[in-house]
Amino acid sequence: MQKKITSLKELTRNLWWSWDTEAKQIFEELSPLHWERNNHNPVELLRHISNDELTARCHGEFAGKIDRAHARFTNYLNSKDTWAAKNAPELVKNPVAYFSAEFGIHESVRIYSGGLGVLAGDHLKSASDLGINFIGITLFYKEGYFRQYLNQDGWQMEDYPLQYPESLPIEKVIGPDGKDLIISVNIAQSEVLAQAWSLKVGRATLYLLDTNIPTNESHYRDICCRVYGGDQNMRINQEILLGIGGVKLLEKLGVQPAVYHMNEGHSAFLTLELLAKELAAGETKVAAMEKVRSRCVFTTHTPVPAGHDRFSRDMMHYTFDKYLAGIGMDFDDLMLLGSEDKNNIYGLFTMTVLALNLSRSANGVSKLHGEVSRTMWQHLYPEKKVSEVPIGHITNGVHANSWTCGLTDTFWKHFAESIDDLTLSRETAEAALAKVTDEDLWSLRYSLKRNLVDFIDRYLANQLFHQHINSFHNEYDAMRSEKNTLSPDVLTIGFARRFATYKRAPLIFRDLDRLNRIINHSTMPVQIVFAGKAHPHDDAGKDYIRQIVEHSRRPQFTGKVIFLENYNLGVAKRMVSGVDIWLNTPVRPMEASGTSGEKTVLHGGLNFSVLDGWWPEAYNGENGWAIGHGESFENHEEQDRFDAEKLYTTLENQIIPTYYERNELNIPVRWIKKIRNAIATIAPEYNTHRMVRDYATKYYLNR
Ligand SMILES: *Cc1c(COP(=O)(O)O)cnc(C)c1O
Repeated sequence: MQKKITSLKELTRNLWWSWDTEAKQIFEELSPLHWERNNHNPVELLRHISNDELTARCHGEFAGKIDRAHARFTNYLNSKDTWAAKNAPELVKNPVAYFSAEFGIHESVRIYSGGLGVLAGDHLKSASDLGINFIGITLFYKEGYFRQYLNQDGWQMEDYPLQYPESLPIEKVIGPDGKDLIISVNIAQSEVLAQAWSLKVGRATLYLLDTNIPTNESHYRDICCRVYGGDQNMRINQEILLGIGGVKLLEKLGVQPAVYHMNEGHSAFLTLELLAKELAAGETKVAAMEKVRSRCVFTTHTPVPAGHDRFSRDMMHYTFDKYLAGIGMDFDDLMLLGSEDKNNIYGLFTMTVLALNLSRSANGVSKLHGEVSRTMWQHLYPEKKVSEVPIGHITNGVHANSWTCGLTDTFWKHFAESIDDLTLSRETAEAALAKVTDEDLWSLRYSLKRNLVDFIDRYLANQLFHQHINSFHNEYDAMRSEKNTLSPDVLTIGFARRFATYKRAPLIFRDLDRLNRIINHSTMPVQIVFAGKAHPHDDAGKDYIRQIVEHSRRPQFTGKVIFLENYNLGVAKRMVSGVDIWLNTPVRPMEASGTSGEKTVLHGGLNFSVLDGWWPEAYNGENGWAIGHGESFENHEEQDRFDAEKLYTTLENQIIPTYYERNELNIPVRWIKKIRNAIATIAPEYNTHRMVRDYATKYYLNR
């Protein structure tokens, strides 16, 4: 019995369970209530269950489940027969060191804000699955990203619940002397100390640097408080800790990376610490730069100018003078590495420029974003044509096993060995699809939508309760009874992502009468579910949320347009699996890739999106719908009007009639044909196994 409990506890200490359906069910089964209440955190869950209870329950069939999950887990960790062993042995011998300011691995580990973090988490998981020796570096944020709730006016409010190390599956990193491993980084005139935590994600390890130690001054302890929190000064301090601290940590651990991968410019200061080491070893400036460049690769993630960190010359002086003196580098040399104009080092220091200057390769995250990035950064390479600017692309994907874990995974396992069959190639996906009947797929769709509708019912009860906690009970009761009208029979559209304004969440509300006719059609109704957080400083994004909440309270939309608070990985999983249509309305070409639409495909969801990010590559006319043909207007108003018109007509003339067209068995045959096409053409391409293989062969190996 003790052995089962030990196995169970071992499973909680590695996030591998988060993409194994049966392992996850074990935790849920232990206490569905505490599982839900503790954000699906098994470490927390076990704190609510006594040893007596565990001993009694680790018995019979349940014990068998634990044994099986534990055996799968051990096999997974020990398997030598991996993609990397065959195709990239260099990356088994030495690790890839992947630096990212955020990692979205599971909703219970709140060290992410949005898409960039989710991508990093999915990258880490696929690297582990493929057998690549992989180390992630990030910060431990004790408050994480904020928890969103809405006030009665629909205005976003933020609170920052603490997360405690003892509630997470992280371990303190111990040095060879048996004491806490401590590194120090120089910031301005101070030496800031940091300890480190390690988090196991399958075979991969994620290290989290943490300045929360008593010897640090309080403003340096705050570096590890919030994801993207604070001002420019906080931002530069976080980036020094991530980049320079990360390299120092790897050195202390005795790790010699095969390659350093900067996931976005936040970590680009890592190149300075690598330069410092080369200079200390006696290399000339030129040779040192060449050596650093030969070991680093860089991925840029946004065509939005504000998405690129820039620091003033004064701030650079203040923060780096002492550090530079220590490593023997001139301030002007540093500024040159980060200046957009080589003839003017008196302007801003741009992290992306530093990363581009000191990496051997750079890439955008979709074909279109590669093109946009080459144009955007051409001025750094005045001697080159746009097409020759050294920025390539690898299109983002999603970790299919994580996003299908649960009902969808179980469904596909009736028709395929595993989800991997659906993501490996079009042939293997089609082989699985050939075994599935239309009735099977339609039944899956209904089950998933039922789950979403029921989830929303419980979630909203809670949300409305605290929104109206101060108002009269009858008002709350009215809200409660009105809202409970979502139906699995109705075509359901989902829209959820960060509320950056370029994503235009309120676009579908441009013509309220027309939307009213669409939503309240007597035989072909539609319902829409929204979720998403605006950055705490982004009042325009918050106003978009407020507008949507206001619309959702109009009598004609009540119970048919829903805004769910506190978008996170857990809510995302529910939404991408349940909805019929995943809507995306960015201003082209601002969406570098986008990944949320890729998550919906294996659940039988269909994309309806502006031809931006990954969608122009994937869309083939049959596997979803496009909003327009990529038309661009100078004038924002004109663009919105045009895109909204396309959105409405495509919904009215194509999407809605296809969904409600049924055969004699009440099955929407043409709709399901689209689902099949989407699965066969999108799932094998837009996943992180393919993406990480591309990174390995194109950029990590450097053969
Ligand atoms: C996938 C995901 C994102 C990214 O969504 P995009 O549509 O690509 O912007 C953001 N947040 C969460 C919680 C996600 O799961």
